[in-house]
Amino acid sequence: MTDPIIQTITPVAHDLGAFEVRRAIPSRQRTMVGPFIFVDQFGPAHLPAGTAMDVRPHPHINLATVTWLFEGAIDHRDSLGSFATIRPGQVNLMTAGTGIVHSERSPETERPGGPHLYGMQTWLALPDGKEEIAPAFEQVTALPLVEDVCVSARVIMGTLWGQTAPTTQHAATIYAEILLAPGGTLPIDAEADERAVMLVGGEAQVDGHPLSLYDLVVLAPGAVLKLQSETGSRVMLMGGEAFSTKRHVWWNFVSSSRDRINQAKADWQEGRFPKVPGDEEEFIPLPKVATTVSYP
Ligand code: MN
Repeated sequence: MTDPIIQTITPVAHDLGAFEVRRAIPSRQRTMVGPFIFVDQFGPAHLPAGTAMDVRPHPHINLATVTWLFEGAIDHRDSLGSFATIRPGQVNLMTAGTGIVHSERSPETERPGGPHLYGMQTWLALPDGKEEIAPAFEQVTALPLVEDVCVSARVIMGTLWGQTAPTTQHAATIYAEILLAPGGTLPIDAEADERAVMLVGGEAQVDGHPLSLYDLVVLAPGAVLKLQSETGSRVMLMGGEAFSTKRHVWWNFVSSSRDRINQAKADWQEGRFPKVPGDEEEFIPLPKVATTVSYP
């Protein structure tokens, strides 16, 4: 029997004081799983009363960001004039395309008691021919819930277990949050070119192979695999079509073209990106060295 797991990526953890962020990709081992080019998991954390998460306005190009929360709430504002408070069970998809600026901050209502933070921040590379599409923002609140004995799975993007999320896809994508009660089992569909799972709470196995907490586990393509838990768990499933062309990542910019990234750097440095209505004063300056992105 072939091994259902082809790669295990242990994320790099960053302790931001009040909470931890774990970055699985990009990593030395792997840069993408389907369109997913950036996978961060943050929390769980309960920030002290009176404090907040404040990600000041910053730009993106040639990608789409996907925000998903297990606990807490975040206010999103962007340069299109969008404003949305995201909560668990809802997805925010922000398409940067030619360029967008956004901020992510704890809602005022969360600050007095201390914000809860627990969720996923992922980026999807835009496919060839769609990198320079118009920027857009959508929040989808009605996502399919797949339920079975001891299983409850939310389809965030794409088609899984016969249910399709209405969330926009620029490249073929699957994304789901799976909750298994003790004794729960669920098949992992085989359609996507590339698939990975991340255990974000509890205990689970894939075809009998135990998952380690927060590791991004890339699954062998082509086979229906069995996810199961003896004591209960929360697992993220992600993937989609394999990209045949390379992407560059620098700070908050993703593109197939290095020149395009250099253009975006100059545009941010020179203040040529649009402002975020309602959040015009602050911004994150362009870093001097090519660090990885800084989220949150
Ligand atoms: Mn961002």
